[in-house]
Amino acid sequence: MRVLVVEDDPRISRDVIETLTSAGYATDHASDGEDAWFKGDTEDYSAVILDLGLPGMDGLAILKKWRANGRAFPILVLTARGTWSERVEGIDAGADDYLPKPFEMDELLARLRAVIRRSAGHAAPSIAIGEVVVDPKQMRVTVGGVPKSLSPQEYRLLSYLMHHAGRVVPQQELAEQLHGSYEERESNAVEVLVGRVRRKLGVDLIETRRGFGYLIEAAGQ
Ligand code: CA
Repeated sequence: MRVLVVEDDPRISRDVIETLTSAGYATDHASDGEDAWFKGDTEDYSAVILDLGLPGMDGLAILKKWRANGRAFPILVLTARGTWSERVEGIDAGADDYLPKPFEMDELLARLRAVIRRSAGHAAPSIAIGEVVVDPKQMRVTVGGVPKSLSPQEYRLLSYLMHHAGRVVPQQELAEQLHGSYEERESNAVEVLVGRVRRKLGVDLIETRRGFGYLIEAAGQ
């Protein structure tokens, strides 16, 4: 799970990135409109947190351009309190939720989890496939009720595949979800991680589709 944080206030962006990192997300950051628009247009994210008041291009213009270009990631908009017209315009332009400033980090995390879940078509707060259950709120993974201890990267990988169960996820897409902007990407990192997750889970869940990517069958198939 990789999230783009678009925020020009250094204090808020630092707090948000710290919060997301300790909640298990990989993060990327943009502090002006042009950089935000470019990253969102060219990189894959599980979600974007978008401040509306930005230097360069404003948040609403960016949102409209992304949606016009078919960028479908869920977007959580940050607005100044009381600007209801901005919120209405933002939602009309394709924002999935909004959060007025100032906000509590716990609420930001809850809303972020909800937009990611909904965008992947899951209504329930945890995702279960066979015996494996991922609980994004607790960042916990259990197999047959037994908790498994996964590293943050292993957790991101499993959580991303579970959210996209039923679809073959290309290796490159997985690699992009696993790393923040400044972390090094090794070409075989995904393969190694998948191997570790398989061993830790001890169940046959993640399939390799050679040359295509990885797949978890959707529940009930
Ligand atoms: Ca701002």
